[in-house]
Amino acid sequence: MEIKKGIGVSPGVVISTAVVLDAEDLLIPKRQVPADEIPHETARFNEAVTRSLEELSVLRDSVAAKHGKEISGIFDFHLGVLRDKGLLTQVASEIKNNHSTAEYAVSMVMRRYANAFLGMSDRYLSERVKDIYDIEKRVLHNLIGQKQQDLLRLTTDVVIIAHDMLPSQTAALDRLHVRGFATDAGGRTSHTAIVARAMGIPAVVGLGNITSEVNGGDTVIIDGNHGVVIINPDEQQLAEHRETERRRLHVEHELSALRDLPAETKDGHVVSLQANIEFPAEVDDALDKGARGVGLYRTEFLFLANEVEPTEEVHFEAYADALRRLSGRPLVIRTLDLGADKYTQAKAQNPERNPFLGDRSIRMCLHDIPMFKRQLRAIMRASVLGDVRIMFPMISTLMELRQAKMVLNDVMEELEDEGVTFRKDIPIGMMMEVPSAAIMADNFGKEVSFFSIGTNDLIQYTLAVDRTNEKVAGLFCPAHPSVLKLVRDVIRAGARNSIGVSVCGEMAGEPLYTLLLLGLGLNTFSMNGPDIPEVKKIIRSVTMEHAKQVARRVMSFDSERQVMHFLREETRKIDPEAF
Ligand code: PEP
Ligand code: MG
Repeated sequence: MEIKKGIGVSPGVVISTAVVLDAEDLLIPKRQVPADEIPHETARFNEAVTRSLEELSVLRDSVAAKHGKEISGIFDFHLGVLRDKGLLTQVASEIKNNHSTAEYAVSMVMRRYANAFLGMSDRYLSERVKDIYDIEKRVLHNLIGQKQQDLLRLTTDVVIIAHDMLPSQTAALDRLHVRGFATDAGGRTSHTAIVARAMGIPAVVGLGNITSEVNGGDTVIIDGNHGVVIINPDEQQLAEHRETERRRLHVEHELSALRDLPAETKDGHVVSLQANIEFPAEVDDALDKGARGVGLYRTEFLFLANEVEPTEEVHFEAYADALRRLSGRPLVIRTLDLGADKYTQAKAQNPERNPFLGDRSIRMCLHDIPMFKRQLRAIMRASVLGDVRIMFPMISTLMELRQAKMVLNDVMEELEDEGVTFRKDIPIGMMMEVPSAAIMADNFGKEVSFFSIGTNDLIQYTLAVDRTNEKVAGLFCPAHPSVLKLVRDVIRAGARNSIGVSVCGEMAGEPLYTLLLLGLGLNTFSMNGPDIPEVKKIIRSVTMEHAKQVARRVMSFDSERQVMHFLREETRKIDPEAF
């Protein structure tokens, strides 16, 4: 048995038999053809491109239908590269001038493309290099006559172990039989990770050398929640995980009955459970899990499939799509939260030394007013299509909030001058994720319609723990009394100012904290869709009075260990199947 720690990028725990994908790097020998074969080689290349374009269009359309345009946009990038006249001319010239075979010409030119990306030496673009390899491999397979590694014809359940999964491979996985995957390479913001998450396939990446430690046929546990892979688990481990899986399936089945019931305590106190989404298509699954709306739409994911900034129309289409799916339920659109670990930092010419404390989120938007306005215009235009609310992220000073609202006012005036209709009294809220704002919550409460506590960042900034650094992951803890005091004070400030307060960080979806948050008076919980049923079950099993007692007791502790221990005990008393 061996336990390996990587980065959990898509949640869920699975046990299955491993299929190890070979490093598929095709060896293309340098070979020349006589002059009279040049037209034939050129024709072969053109045919391979045509076939690849056809395959990609089919793939794009099926991914768009299943998972939405944001993910399928990755394949628009592939299609764009393959239609690029510069690329096609370079390959044709390589064949013509150097008498190269079509295979060799393709690999030469594509490597040149890849090197151009690599030369820029940043992380965002290095993810794009993988897309270039993906395209190269597809064209080569079509030239050589082999089909891409075909994982579509599986007949039994497997987990896939690979050096890396290309975005297109991931999107084409057979959801029925591929239970999970684990890779040597990869990072949290890679396309592959995001596609896996949207497809609901548990995944752990960044494991270093998992491909050399697993043999095909080995039994493997992939725990996407904790970023752990266990190779050939012993009987005890296996039994534990089987039990976890059995419980999960049982609980899932049982919980599906709660779907249409309100999140109401035994003594009639009702709260709203909403979903966090990255793509409009996720709305359907969230509603299926019982979400009453979207409490956090992370719009920065619109940058995922685009090399360039999304246009106003791209923003608008995405919002309109989400609103159509929500049929009148609320949609909290968070304005762009770029920077730090999300997209732009890696593209920057001069990367920041401390990006989490740098030009991120609302700060970046206020430094790029045209970009900010494009998004705000789209949100306001969409505001007449449903229950839209705006939320500004990472506000740390009152001045910042006022500036953001001023830009929004400018946008409203412009739209009015253009005769465009929009909702003038759109609710404007802010994220509470920086301690300076949480401490001043009373002042902020007079200037916004709602707060949403982003515990992921609030913990990071309160405890000085980088949320992406695995070396200090043990210190990242929602139960730290300092964090809990800030959460409590924000909820109180919300009540004093008669405005709504939600928590939209991961803490909201962790059953361990449900009793506490409820008892502190939280009225909206926003979480990943799959977490909703379990949280609802706990809420429906307790009285508000009991939750308040729990909260009072928790707030008297001075260590996170005491808090967690007490919450675990109390939660198990009312829901023995929790955790
Ligand atoms: C948070 O910080 O808690 C949050 C919800 O935002 P994100 O995870 O996108 O930073
Ligand atoms: Mg945040």
